[in-house]
Amino acid sequence: MHKLFVPPESIDGSLITVTGADVEHLHALRIREGERLSISDGKKTVYEAALSQMHKDSAVFDILDEKSFENEPDIDITVCIALLKGGACEDVIRQSVELGASHIVVFTSANCIAKEREKDGKYLKTARQAAMQSGRDVVPDILTGVSFEKMLNILKKTDLPLFFHEKAQTPFFDVIEKNSLPRSAAFAVGPEGGFTDSEVKSAENCGIPAVSMGKRILRAVTAPLCALSVLTAVYDRQR
Ligand code: SAH
Repeated sequence: MHKLFVPPESIDGSLITVTGADVEHLHALRIREGERLSISDGKKTVYEAALSQMHKDSAVFDILDEKSFENEPDIDITVCIALLKGGACEDVIRQSVELGASHIVVFTSANCIAKEREKDGKYLKTARQAAMQSGRDVVPDILTGVSFEKMLNILKKTDLPLFFHEKAQTPFFDVIEKNSLPRSAAFAVGPEGGFTDSEVKSAENCGIPAVSMGKRILRAVTAPLCALSVLTAVYDRQR
């Protein structure tokens, strides 16, 4: 069943009115009257709804059934990635959405080579497409242009803050063993040139010691996917 994400205001009683770019998407998919879609309000409910009226700029659906989210992980994970060269951030965002990230933060740090920020709209579009494709119930939110210090604050607010550094002594698995069921986790991965020693110190001073994912050096695009896969494998036990 195709999936759509609509703002909660689109839902009125037993009807859902879809507008904007989603209508173009429905036209492109050639959705016919009576056809059923899964529509999420992005907050907590997924509706099964059938198309009742298709107009040029809007589409109206009848709600047939509603359920609480079913496809979201048990743990709320924030993925903090440094601004990367080329389209690398977009690739990480797409794959992080597939792997179950709830929030994505793009931060700047001392060794960032990339200077230009992507347009936020482009990232959001990528996240939305990945959420639809992977059957997510929400589109993760994306914060961009975040400073290194602000990123550390975001990490600190979660039950399990992780700062990944290739020279760290503490193995990831040791941290996991000590944290049986965190409700939230956030991790930071550095840019292509890695974190500087002073950034590693700043994190330590915030009470977030550096953690290692093994003796191999992972690329800035590989490290977040490895961390996310491990966190969901260990802490998302629904099925
Ligand atoms: N500074 C290094 C590599 C940077 S890799 C160099 O240029 O040789 C990019 C980021 O991936 C790092 O900042 C770190 O956050 C993460 N990373 C890569 N390998 C890692 C490992 N084995 N353990 C923990 N983090 C790692």
